[in-house]
Amino acid sequence: MNLLLHICCGPCSFYPLTVLQEKGINPVGYFFNPNIHPFREYERRVEALKVVAEEFSLSMIWDQRGYDLEHWFQAIGDSRDSVRRCPECYRVRLEAAAQVAAEGGMEAFTTTLLYSRYQRHGEIRKIGTETAERHGVKFWYHDFREGWQQGIDMSIEAGIYRQPYCGCLFSERERYEKREKRLAAALNPGE
Ligand code: SF4
Repeated sequence: MNLLLHICCGPCSFYPLTVLQEKGINPVGYFFNPNIHPFREYERRVEALKVVAEEFSLSMIWDQRGYDLEHWFQAIGDSRDSVRRCPECYRVRLEAAAQVAAEGGMEAFTTTLLYSRYQRHGEIRKIGTETAERHGVKFWYHDFREGWQQGIDMSIEAGIYRQPYCGCLFSERERYEKREKRLAAALNPGE
């Protein structure tokens, strides 16, 4: 099968690539993740993925838009809470993947987002299917979450960078929510 694999990051790609290899599918990797902020973080994740691509002899398409911060903020608009923000964020990336797959004459595409236990799996499947239909390709669905621990072990063994937050500045902030509140209370003890 002629498949495009949208890759969100290196650590999340180990298990999906293993599954695809076992099925005899040699995908082309595609990286477009304007949701990763700030730039130094984006750069680290790209470097980690390069290591994985090398290990799996994976051909990669690195979207020429690169660190497209403006595009991402424009796409999410006022959807700042995660319930509304995350589906828009998936849509930006899956829409791009569907388009690249269609333009490249590929049969189907899928995404490593389907590996994460922290993502809204049902939304990813729904949006992937919708975008695929619109572009005349198929969305290759697989619940990669089954290999959660195996993927973690593989990425630790490879020694690549494993990020501590999802990607956007909002998710980085959410990670430190309690600390932020404690700091605010310490700075303004009377409030
Ligand atoms: S938390 Fe993750 S999926 Fe949700 S908007 Fe931020 S980067 Fe995208």
